[in-house]
Amino acid sequence: MLELPDADLGDCPAAASDLAEPVVTSDELLRGKLLHVFRDVVDVPGRGHGVREWIKHPGASAVVPLFADGTVALVRQYRHGPRREFLEIPAGKLDPGEAPEACARREVQEETGLIVGKLTPLGPLYPAIGYSDEVIHIFLGEDLTLSETNEDDTEVVRPIRLPFDQAVRLAQTGAIADMKTVAALLRADALLQSR
Ligand SMILES: [Mg+2]
Repeated sequence: MLELPDADLGDCPAAASDLAEPVVTSDELLRGKLLHVFRDVVDVPGRGHGVREWIKHPGASAVVPLFADGTVALVRQYRHGPRREFLEIPAGKLDPGEAPEACARREVQEETGLIVGKLTPLGPLYPAIGYSDEVIHIFLGEDLTLSETNEDDTEVVRPIRLPFDQAVRLAQTGAIADMKTVAALLRADALLQSR
C-alpha cells in the first residue's frame, strides 16, 4: 500500500523541494503589456527533459471590504476572456515595486471609493499553478470610510453592496464564480467565524 506521510506543504520554494525542475533553456514567446509567455525545457528529477510553457505575471492584491453592518462591497465587471460579467472583490495587479498591502488599499479606493482602515492578510492564492507564477495576495478590509472612486480609464467597474452572508452563499453555489472572489469570501468567512 502507498505510504502517505504527513504533509508539510506550507512554503516550499524550489531550493527546498526535492521535486524541483531545474531550467535547462528558456525561450520568451511573447512580451505583452501584461503577460510574458515562456517555453522552458526543464530537467525533471529521474525522468529526463520536459517542456513547460508558462506565463510570467506581476502578482496582484484583492480585498474583501467588510462594513461594520455586515455588508460587503463587491464590483461588477465584464471580463473579455470568458466574455461575461462577474461579481468580484476589488483587485488589481501590483505596480512595479509596490507592496501587496499598498496595492490592496489602492485598488479598493480606485474601484469602490472606499478607504480601508484595517487590513488583515488572508494568505496567498495561486490561481493558475499549471501555467503561471501569478500570486494574488488576499486581505480582509475593515474600518471602511467613503471617499471617491478613481477608476482606471480603460476599465469599467460598478461597485455594489450586499450582505456578507449572502455573498458567501453565492460563492458556495457558483453564482459567484470568480476564483479569487470565491476563495477570499470563504477564507474571510472562516476568519470571522473564529473571532
Ligand atoms: Mg481590478
